[in-house]
Order: sequence, then C-alpha cells, then structure tokens
Amino acid sequence: MTNAPESECDVLIIGAGPAGLMAARWMAEFVRQKPDLRIRIIDKRSTKIFTGQADGLQCRTLETFQTLGLAEKILAEANEMVTISLYNPDENGVLKRTDRIPDTLPDISRYHQVVLHQGRIERHFLDSIAERSDMQIKVERGVLPEELTVDDSKIEDSEAYPITVKVRHLSEEEATPAQFGHKAANGLFRSSLTTAEEEDAAFARQPGRGENETETIRAKYVIGCDGGHSWVRRTLGIEMVGEQTDYIWGVVDGVPHSNFPDIRSRCAIHSANSGSVMIIPRENGMVRLYVQLQERAQPGQRVDKARFTSEMVIASAKKIMEPYTLDVPEVDWFTAYHIGQRVANAFDRDNRVFIAGDACHTHSPKAGQGMNTSMMDTYNLCWKLGLVISGKADRSLLKTYASERRPFAQALIDFDHKFSRLFSGRPAKDMADEMGVSMDVFKDAFIKGNKFASGTAINYDPSIIVGKEGAITSKRDLAKNIEVGTRLASHKVVRHAEGLPIHLGDLLVSNGKFRILLFAGKASDPQQMQRIGAFADYLDSDKSVISRYTPQGGKRDDVVEVLTIHSNTREEVEMHDFPAPSLFPKYDYNKIYADCEPYHGGHAHAYQNYGIDEQKGAVIVVRPDGYIAMVCDLEDTPMLDAYFDGFMLAPAKTIGRQTEADWTIKGTKSNGVNGTGVHVQKEPAAPVV
Ligand code: FAD
Repeated sequence: MTNAPESECDVLIIGAGPAGLMAARWMAEFVRQKPDLRIRIIDKRSTKIFTGQADGLQCRTLETFQTLGLAEKILAEANEMVTISLYNPDENGVLKRTDRIPDTLPDISRYHQVVLHQGRIERHFLDSIAERSDMQIKVERGVLPEELTVDDSKIEDSEAYPITVKVRHLSEEEATPAQFGHKAANGLFRSSLTTAEEEDAAFARQPGRGENETETIRAKYVIGCDGGHSWVRRTLGIEMVGEQTDYIWGVVDGVPHSNFPDIRSRCAIHSANSGSVMIIPRENGMVRLYVQLQERAQPGQRVDKARFTSEMVIASAKKIMEPYTLDVPEVDWFTAYHIGQRVANAFDRDNRVFIAGDACHTHSPKAGQGMNTSMMDTYNLCWKLGLVISGKADRSLLKTYASERRPFAQALIDFDHKFSRLFSGRPAKDMADEMGVSMDVFKDAFIKGNKFASGTAINYDPSIIVGKEGAITSKRDLAKNIEVGTRLASHKVVRHAEGLPIHLGDLLVSNGKFRILLFAGKASDPQQMQRIGAFADYLDSDKSVISRYTPQGGKRDDVVEVLTIHSNTREEVEMHDFPAPSLFPKYDYNKIYADCEPYHGGHAHAYQNYGIDEQKGAVIVVRPDGYIAMVCDLEDTPMLDAYFDGFMLAPAKTIGRQTEADWTIKGTKSNGVNGTGVHVQKEPAAPVV
C-alpha cells in the first residue's frame, strides 16, 4: 500500500458497544479540557443496536450515569424492577409461587435496578459524547481493523505513537452483514452461537474492493472494546480461560398475553421437568422471557443457530409455565445463546493496548452483568488514561486497570458459574435428591448474589491509588462505616449557601478530578476551627497537592477539588467563617455543605452514616471514579502528599517525572532534553484562585 492515508491519535477505541461508548464519553471530558487531544472510535458495523440485546442496569451503573449527566434521561424511559417472585413445583409437581423478595436489596443505593434496551442506552451515550466533546468525538462506522503492531522500543516514550493499526473503510453493504433470515429482529448473528470465524467471514474483503479503502492510524493507546470475539484480543494472543456448559437458552421480547400472576415482576421459574424461565418486565409494557431450551450443545461441536426460532422459544416457555397460559403474538426481538464463563488471561499489552468489556469476560446474560461490567471496565480505565494523556499522571497509573478489573471479572465469572448452574438445574424432589438443585440454596444464592450483582460490593485491593497499606494506610476508625477501595455511598447534605438538600454523589461529577472531602466536624468550636485553619493553611501553601498538581494557568480545583461538609447548623457557623481560598474560593458558593436538618425531607445524618465523629471530622479522598482512595485526619497532610506523589506528575517540579510540555525546550524535542542536553525548567505558574 503506497498511498494509504496516515494519521495520528492519542487514543483509538475499537468497538462502539457499551464499553467503547463509555470510553469515548470519559475521553470527551478530557477533550473538553484539552481540545488538542485526538480521540477516535471506530466500529465495523454500519449501525448501532436498535432493539433487544442487554437491558438491565444495576445500581452502581446508575450512580455512575448520574455523575455523567445520563441518569435522568435513562430513568425517564426505563422500567424499574421492584419484586422478584420465585416459582417452584409443589409436591405434585405443579408450579407454585414460593417466595417474593425485593429486586434490589433495600438501602444499598439511592437507585434500584431498571431495564431499558441497549439501543436506547447507546443513543443517550452518543448524544452525550457529541455534546461533551463539542462534536470532536464521533463514532466512525464501517471501519474494520486489519493489522495491529506495537513498537516495543517506544513503549515508555510518552510522546511516541508506538501502536500502528491498519484499518479498512467498508462499503455500506460490507458493514451491514445480513441478520439471520427471520421475520423478527434477532440477535443470533451476534450471539455466542456465532463463532469468531463466522463473524470474520461476514466482514471479509469483498471481491473488487481494493487497497484504496485502507488507512494507517498511529496511536499512543488502543482500547479493544470489540466484544466477545474481540479481534484485538486475538491479535494480541490473549487467551480466554474458562468453561462452556451445554445449556442453550432462548430469549424473546414482546408483550405477553398471559394469566400468569407475576408476569410484570422479575421471576425465577423452575418447572419440575421442563426447564426454567426467567421473566424480566421491560419498558413499554414488554416482557423478556429467558427460556431454557431442551437442546443441548455437544462438546466441541458447532451449534446450528438456524434451528432456533422465536416460535420454538415461546413453545418451550409455554411448557415450563404450565398450567398458566402464555402467548407472545408480536415478537420484538429474539435470540438464543450458549452459556460459558470465560475471562481473559491478560487485560492489556504493556499498558498500551487494553481490552475491555466482553472482549475480556463473557458469561450468561441472566444476572444482567455484561453490559454493566463492560461499561464499568472503561469507566475504571479511562479516567486514568485521560490523566496520563493530559500529562497529569504517570503511566504507572495504568497498571491499576488490570489489577483492579481482572480480579473483579474473575469474581463475576465465579458468581455466574454458580448462579447459572443453579438456574439451569432441575429442582430437587426432596432432601435425598442429590442430582437436583435445592430451591432453598437457589434462593439463598439469589439474595446473596443481589449485592454482588448491584455493582456496589466492589472493593479494590491496596495499590498506588487505594490507600490501605504501607505509607498510605488509611485510618479506618475515622470513618467506621466505609471501606477504602469501595465506592462512596451517597447521602444527602445541605448546601450551606441557601439550604438546598443535595446528594453528595451529585457533587462527584465525572470530570477527571480527585475530591478531598473535608468533614470539618464542629466548626463552631474554636479548637476545631483551629484544626480546620491549619488544614486550610496546608492547602494554601505551595507544598500542598493542590498547588503542586494544578497545571500552569489552571484553576485551583482543576485537578483536586476540596469540598467541606461541617456538622453544624447553618446558624451556628457562616460559610464565610471557612478559610479562603482553600476551602471557600472567592464567590464559589458550591464548596461548603452542612450535615443538618433541611426544611424538607428530613436530616440525612451523613456523618452518622459514614461513621465519622461529628466533633473532630475526617478527610476522605475520593478518586475521579467515585471510589474511596484514603481516609486520614486533618493533620495527616504528609499522607495526602504521599498518596498523590505516588502517581501524579507535578508540572515543572520534579525531574524524572515531568512531561515535555512542562519544560521549555530549545533545539530538538528529544525526551525533554534541549539541544545542549540540559533541562530548562519553567517557573511553575501560581494556581489561579
Ligand atoms: P459489544 O456490545 O459486543 O460491542 C462490541 C462492538 O464492537 C460492537 O458494536 C461491534 O460491532 C464492534 N466490533 C466487534 N468487532 C469489531 C472489530 N473487529 N472492529 C471494529 N468493531 C468491532 N448485560 C447486562 O449488563 N445486562 C443485561 O441485562 C444483559 N442482557 C443481555 C441479554 C442478551 C440476550 C444478551 C445477548 C446479552 C446481554 N447482556 C446483558 C450482555 C451485554 O449485551 C454485553 O455484555 C455487552 O453488550 C458487552 O458490551 P461490549 O461493549 O463489551 O461489547
């Protein structure tokens, strides 16, 4: 290829499903702050999903959507899941409701699990990416990567573009492979029943299509969000490790005609001998039926997906749900899939090429985890990547993507392994029936699994960004009810300026900033106010993490934002009592909050909920993704320094950890060294206050 266009970009995202779109949405925030960043997202298919596929959104995902400005729009269209009903055969083998439990564990989050089809979720993401990036990031459709190479000699060079990806621009026809020849829209062509080879063949180069459609992209970073058959993963030689069961399930979406009493509740139905059904109540009066089919996959053999029809799935559901009636006259979407639990043995190559979402973990869809976990993968990765490509953080931060997400993916696979086998198994007839599944064990697993499935139970291990051990051992006693490494649960506080009750979670907007939450305690007590003053003096000093990590010419809360929550009433102290500019920057009335009784809605008792002493308070550092980084005392400022020094780049401060942009370069631009081989350090600009 001689005339292929060549281009460079900071990050190339391959695949525009949930994982890729979340990555692009994060990147849009960084492009907003640094418009010269070049981010591209490509997808081989000509269109996004319009119907069917994933639908369940878990509590943690909704909390995250709220910080991205997406929750309200999605909740307005979604269906909230309230109840789970369990149906099992009685002693005569007749289906009976044996239990009802809440769908979301009470008080786990301010959100409950909801369902909305993947197509609408993707639509909201696309709009938000366009808006936040000022139309700089758009999904480029019909673009297929064909070759990926990494130049090992440039891996640690922050200015280099070590990855070369050759892509082919497809014709509309090539990018729209035929669905699977059914009247109803279906997902068979992207289901686990379609092999990677079949998918590759569907996008193979058509005769007559030549080299002119190819392009060479040089990228600093690549994220493979290209689904279960990930080309990026296969190209890197990363293996999927795990098992495949022989169970095959069908899925049908539509408005059911049925006398089943819980047809609008989530239900787990185990029939005596015909298999299981899961009911998911959907938006617009629809219901999704996950139906266990009698067909079994034979080890090592391909399953012929042409055999599966919506009629066959509905017929199986009818049998399982007898004696209740069931029909689905109009099918909105259907698919069939094969259950397997697999996780990739690596999530990155040299922290330059990453894989995320289904590309690195696949499992059964019934626990509603795939889309949620896929988005949370790139939500975890892309604030780190954003800080690195903006020159604010060291590349070492990127290794925490795999160290945090791979153990979680493994836990998810283990959870799904247990859950899906309990779901697909035949109910035990009695205590002596060892081959059957005990319905008490199933219920117990369901309830315990609910916390895990909500996404709120994640607790990341100690690392450079989770202060649990060594120089950054958090003082857990200062906030007894929270765990470092978990997401900060949201409780309401009162904005001091005018008394508005506001969720703390709403202040943790996803924009790449760390937050220092200063729980200032009883600020009306002069002794406590002295401690607050000393902490403020530190923040104002040129040694503080704010002074050191705020970029030249930046605002003082650009990288680390300080929010103060005191435990007084709004009458006992005034907002102007809090020191400026560190705690109360001039005329910024959004920085001081009170944990007190508001006029409406009742006292939320944030201090009590977090287990913080109302007199002496505590400092909580929250990461840009809302996870608790560390807890310390107001006097523990060296611990704050140590935490941020572990991975942040101080503009024009520390030799060896600087970026090129922080140096005045004379002569050549080689590795921040000027023509004479001498570093010329710029004066750090004072942060704007
Ligand atoms: P995908 O959604 O597969 O997106 C990959 C994207 O990459 C696609 O747009 C594809 O066109 C593109 N692509 C693929 N290969 C290439 C290539 N070589 N080059 C360029 N582009 C490429 N999950 C839940 O959380 N909750 C649920 O309720 C739920 N229900 C489900 C129900 C069903 C019936 C199914 C089948 C799945 C369900 N899932 C659910 C799982 C969920 O759909 C997936 O886990 C999720 O879509 C994975 O997102 P992803 O972005 O990683 O991959």
